[in-house]
This record gives sequence, structure tokens and C-alpha cells, in this order.
Amino acid sequence: MALAVSPDLPVVPPSLGRRWLSRVNMSGPVPEHAPQLGACWPWDGRTNKRGYAVITVAGRPELLHRVLYPTIHGPIPDGWQVDHLCHHHELCQLGDACPHRACANPAHWYATTGRENNLRSGSPTAVNARKTHCWRGHPLNGGNLQMRADRPGHRECRTCRRIRRFVAEAEQMAAMGQMTLL
Ligand SMILES: [Zn+2]
Ligand SMILES: [Zn+2]
Ligand SMILES: [Zn+2]
Repeated sequence: MALAVSPDLPVVPPSLGRRWLSRVNMSGPVPEHAPQLGACWPWDGRTNKRGYAVITVAGRPELLHRVLYPTIHGPIPDGWQVDHLCHHHELCQLGDACPHRACANPAHWYATTGRENNLRSGSPTAVNARKTHCWRGHPLNGGNLQMRADRPGHRECRTCRRIRRFVAEAEQMAAMGQMTLL
């Protein structure tokens, strides 16, 4: 069984999924500025010089979030980069020693234009970006957009909903020691 988030996204290759989940600690600290994110998953594997989690894919070292983001969140918009929601640009000024860079919880990843510090800020660019993208950077249109019947005007991102379910399932599997199912 392979971890698949959605039929429209590539599956997480089983060996990659296994190596990823066997090297995370799912009971890391909960970010103080955003407790709704849940616990960080500190990476117990290799990191690069700048503190980002690295995993070997086809014999080559790759950034973990770069490899897994497209399979879990969807494509990274052109020219955007992947950043960590658990990191706070003002509260955490540790630079390359920032522990969030090695956080392997996919719910803590988001795509950003990199032009502003983050999409959740009140800057005009961020406010504009939120009209077309959710706070994690997924496009709010087409099949990814869901209008909620119970809350008129409330737009919901289907990808974010899938990520919440995916993370809950991964946590459950880890708790039950069933990582071999991947
Ligand atoms: Zn985190
Ligand atoms: Zn940080
Ligand atoms: Zn989203």
C-alpha cells in the first residue's frame, strides 16, 4: 500500500514514505505562535549545511520538503518556494540553526512567492495572494475550491483538508507501529 493523498497527485513512493516516517519524531514541540498546527516532526536523518532535512532519492541527496511537497500538497507554483509555517521570522532568529528547517511534518509546509515574508502577513502582496491562494499557497479555484454550504462565503481548500487527513492517518499508523504497511 502506498501513501496516496489524492488521485490527482503522484503517490509517495513506498520506500521513500517508509524512510521518511521512520526518521521523524511525531511528538516534537508545538509552535507557540501557531498551536493549531500541531507538533513539529523533528527529522532524525541527515540535514544540509543550512539545517534543512535531506533524503536520498535515486542515489542523490534531495531536500525532503522539495521531494514530498508535490505528492502531498500538489505542484509548487512556478517561481514559488517551500517554507515552514512553524518557523516565525521574528520570533525565531536562529538562522541556519533554526530547528524548524528540519521539520518533516508536511502540514507545516507551505509554498510562498518569497516576495513577502509569509502569506499570512497583512502586507498588500500577502492580502492579494490570499484572494487566489489559501494560506498554504494552494490555488483557490477549480476542483481545489469548495464553497461551504453551512458557512456562506467561506471558501475551503480541498488540498488542506486532505493534508489534515493525511497527517492524522500517518500519526495513527505510527502510533500503531504499522509503518510497514506503506
Ligand atoms: Zn514544524
Ligand atoms: Zn525557526
Ligand atoms: Zn490549502
